[in-house]
Amino acid sequence: MTLPAGKRRGRRGAARGGGGPRPAGKRRVSGGVAGGGPVGMIAAIELGRRGVSCVLLNDRPTTATHPKANAISSRTMEHLRRLGLARAVRARGLDDDHPTDLAYFTRLSGYEIGRYRQPSRREALAEAASGTGRWASAEPPHRCSQLFLEAELKQAVDALPAVEVRFGWRLEEFRDRGDRVEALARRSDGADEIVYEAGYLIGCDGAGSGVRAALGIELAGESGVIRPIMGGPMYATYFEADPAAGWLAQDPAWQYWILNPEFRALFIPVDGGDKFLFITALGTGDGGMRDPAAAIRRAAGADFPLRVISSQNWTAGYALVAERYRRGRVFLAGDAAHLFTPTGGMGMNTGIDDAVNLAWKLAGEIAGWGGGFLVDSYEAERRPIARRNTAFASRFADSIGHMPVDAAIEEAGAAGREARAALGRLVEAHAHFEFTIPGIFLGLSYAGSPIVAGDGSSPPPDDPNAYTPNACPGARAPHAWLAGGALHDVLGPEFTLLRFGDAADPAPLLAAAGVPGLPLAVATVEDPAARAIYGADLVLIRPDHHVAWRGNRLPRDCRTLVDLARGAGQTQTTT
Ligand SMILES: Cc1cc2nc3c(=O)[nH]c(=O)nc-3n(C[C@H](O)[C@H](O)[C@H](O)COP(=O)(O)OP(=O)(O)OC[C@H]3O[C@@H](n4cnc5c(N)ncnc54)[C@H](O)[C@@H]3O)c2cc1C
Repeated sequence: MTLPAGKRRGRRGAARGGGGPRPAGKRRVSGGVAGGGPVGMIAAIELGRRGVSCVLLNDRPTTATHPKANAISSRTMEHLRRLGLARAVRARGLDDDHPTDLAYFTRLSGYEIGRYRQPSRREALAEAASGTGRWASAEPPHRCSQLFLEAELKQAVDALPAVEVRFGWRLEEFRDRGDRVEALARRSDGADEIVYEAGYLIGCDGAGSGVRAALGIELAGESGVIRPIMGGPMYATYFEADPAAGWLAQDPAWQYWILNPEFRALFIPVDGGDKFLFITALGTGDGGMRDPAAAIRRAAGADFPLRVISSQNWTAGYALVAERYRRGRVFLAGDAAHLFTPTGGMGMNTGIDDAVNLAWKLAGEIAGWGGGFLVDSYEAERRPIARRNTAFASRFADSIGHMPVDAAIEEAGAAGREARAALGRLVEAHAHFEFTIPGIFLGLSYAGSPIVAGDGSSPPPDDPNAYTPNACPGARAPHAWLAGGALHDVLGPEFTLLRFGDAADPAPLLAAAGVPGLPLAVATVEDPAARAIYGADLVLIRPDHHVAWRGNRLPRDCRTLVDLARGAGQTQTTT
């Protein structure tokens, strides 16, 4: 069947109606999520844990089987901590003591050119617990394959009664009827169909988003950039080989980069055992790079037994952002809304932040306390972040992609030694630039958002490699260790009035929030160091842990502040 006079899905072999099976009636849900990758699953978890009924459709029957992302940002880990999933995800991936170094080689069996030391999971957590290190967070970055993250998310979403999880079902077409979205879901084997009537639809259907295409939304930005690596056609191979078979460097690392005059490539351990991901550019060197096993052996500089599990072509060199994130009742998130070159590890992490940002707003709209501008603020807040993050990723890609590799780099003599020493300095500086990026993940700000009350302060300069803890309105609520744990852990599940000391009576704000039903908790903290970071006695923190407002006393008109935070007011409030 097809939806009458609906917008048709135009891509990816979408089936057309006709003589298919009859639909099993219409089902009503508040939200529909198309795409069960990491972004769609987070969106469904955020909705489902709030009791919002929704359906999650994923055309493939299982979570991903071919690894892509392996850098889970500190910010994503903070979200997972808020959702009670950080511990389980942290337990996956490389062993506790596996270093997460960035190591650069001519070939694995050739010369090590440079190494940027990075802590193991155990060391990173110890640094975070002691408040040292570069990541001012209870949750430092985690090096873990997307395969394992997706498996954990799937388990979490399956456990939510409000979410109807349908893997092996694709969104076939949808139509925005103005007061609801009608969506036709078809089992991937064609054996069954269901029509959903959903309040809203979120397109989390990845880079080739059919939802985006059906909405007629274009991507804008940079594409077609060619670099010796991380720009143009790329090839990723998931393979199995015994790491003790003499082909892998003795000193373990998280990423093993290969730079030589013939080609550039990258090895990433997937599980800390015998599974690896190999990434290289197509079109560099000779055609031998198209034979995955031969390319792997060539980059290793050794012949060794290996089994190719899967290979995928993909394209790097994009920094593209959708021109709109919403049309009517349909939204875009994740790769459907932006395309990155994966340098810096930002595509999935940015997408997860999208889903977090959108879901509480949709939940507020569905619950009735969300004002008319609340869901509009999703695009206002997240699109600039996608433009910012794709631009940073491009700079990282230029830096590693165009790294000058001297023709003598593999020579044993003085010329080779000098070339390696020079490149070693460059790659170590590059590794810091690309991988120590607390400014990107912790320093993001929604200052200027229509649902953030400015106080005249400005966020610190946006530096990818440095983060200055601050609570300028719009900022991510900064982390602080309190006597009993992390400050983020004492915040409520939705809005929280964070109160340092007991000087101010929260009653007027609670009363004002109660009128529209805005869910608001109060957290009282006695901690001068945390108060100094936050710079005010009172801070209103949103469900996504961004600062909506701060001041030393409540505004005279608390209702105006509540209306601003819930997207029902247009003017900014100060004390
Ligand atoms: C080599 C590589 C390394 C990377 N490394 C990192 C990294 O370290 N960190 C990082 O943050 N990002 C990284 N990325 C990017 C990251 O993998 C993506 O940004 C991420 O997968 C996007 O998640 P998503 O949920 O938006 O889309 P996807 O993961 O593409 O998921 C979309 C899902 O929707 C399904 N779908 C599509 N159409 C339909 C339909 N009509 N109906 C139902 N389901 C549908 C698809 O089958 C898929 O399961 C990397 C990418 C690559 C290629």
